[in-house]
Amino acid sequence: MTHFSKSPFRRLTCLILAILLTAGVFAVSATAEQSVTVEPIAFRNPDFVRGMDVSSVITLEKSGVIFRNRDGDREDIFKILADNGVNTIRARVWNDPYDSNRNGYGGGNNDVATAAKIGQRAAKYGLNLLVDFHYSDFWADPGKQKAPKAWANMTLSEKTAALKAFTTESLKTIRDAGAHITMVQIGNETNLGIAGENSWTNMAQLYNAGSQAVREFSSEIRVMIHYTNPENTYIRTMADFLHDYQVDYDIFATSYYPCWHGSLENLTDTLSYVAEKYDKYTMVAETSYPYTLSDSDGHANTISEWNNCTGENMLWDFTPQGQANEVRAVMNAVNNVKNGKGLGMCYWEGAWITVGDVSGLSSTAYSDRLEKNKALWERDGSGWASSFCAEFDPDDAGKWYGGSAVDNQAFFSPDGTALPSLGVFRDVLPQGAYRLGDADGDDTIDVIDVTVIQRKCAKINQRIDDTTLMHGDVNENGILEIVDAAYIQRYLINAPLQYPIGIWKFPV
Ligand code: CA
Repeated sequence: MTHFSKSPFRRLTCLILAILLTAGVFAVSATAEQSVTVEPIAFRNPDFVRGMDVSSVITLEKSGVIFRNRDGDREDIFKILADNGVNTIRARVWNDPYDSNRNGYGGGNNDVATAAKIGQRAAKYGLNLLVDFHYSDFWADPGKQKAPKAWANMTLSEKTAALKAFTTESLKTIRDAGAHITMVQIGNETNLGIAGENSWTNMAQLYNAGSQAVREFSSEIRVMIHYTNPENTYIRTMADFLHDYQVDYDIFATSYYPCWHGSLENLTDTLSYVAEKYDKYTMVAETSYPYTLSDSDGHANTISEWNNCTGENMLWDFTPQGQANEVRAVMNAVNNVKNGKGLGMCYWEGAWITVGDVSGLSSTAYSDRLEKNKALWERDGSGWASSFCAEFDPDDAGKWYGGSAVDNQAFFSPDGTALPSLGVFRDVLPQGAYRLGDADGDDTIDVIDVTVIQRKCAKINQRIDDTTLMHGDVNENGILEIVDAAYIQRYLINAPLQYPIGIWKFPV
């Protein structure tokens, strides 16, 4: 021991450790000091959706990813999102994302059971759920709208019945798990088709089958149709088509990725066209922006130093502040939609971080870590696609499968700690923002809020002003009653919630 502590090797080790620790301290304080500020928005819609798609999160956790709040403490990611102002979670659903040996296709292996798990955990923290049906067994987008394997040989009428039944059964499973479903997407980026059908007549029939399933399931859920490429005037034709073919829906949504999808002014104009002409709500169902151009998982990102990082609409810095600015700008563009018909925006996969950080690793260490990451993506489905999807999608995902192409667009650093930019979802709210159920106004929901309401109802004097106290009116009937305290007690024991207790709201 003595001998060892005097050895040059030991001293060198100490020196290296000291340097590493110092560097570590600097890195931590640099992160902690990064502050992000955004201007509030005068939202016109009290239910403005500040959404986050975290479909991949269950498989990321299987691969060992741990999420931490902005203080660096480990917490349930859904709590972290609710604390930072997110009010809605989006989860995609694939019918059967498994090969004949029951290996997952990856991309989160998002079957109905996974959506139910996501919805259940989200609801514990008051978060609403947007269910995103792809009506395929894997990624559906403008380039791919392949019917699920089980529907491949069906006639149109068989497929219509199958789509309706699948929608009903899925929603039942997700709701029974405890999820609070507020919106349902009938198809994903369906510009050129849905579930293998691409004629307008057939598409309209399938949309209406899904819509009818939602209507029969609940009158409280809004039906969304989702397109992309708002930079192309063709998207307006889609709204005309939905009208002409009598498709029953509530929300016209588009994706908006600044690199490809035109200006924010055009986005507002396009959505205003639909809002004014057809009296529909509008939304951005997907957007994202990089906080860095670095990759951290060994799988190339869609936006990097060499790829897609320039363009007239890439307006913001590639920093947490720039990322927050993009989110605020997109929310603002939707809020500006005419007739107050802008309903909100949803960020796409804001938690799809690395399963093993390759940042700064040298060649051998890098390739070793990458091999481990690949094994995790294959085992858990935590990358964008696994090799097993080749059976369903041989020409694209089956060739290019791998990890996350958006880890640099997440709101979490590679070690899982929330970035300061995540606070944008709370900081955009106007003055007077509060958490539903927070009767004593300290920004947390706890047993004190229960006591405060009970004392008020028992007419025991207490010093909290009535405006704050009314934030305890969790069923929002305008009366503070003992039942509000009971609902908050349910929230505190993580029981299924009837009301979105804990989410950030604002006075209108
Ligand atoms: Ca990556």
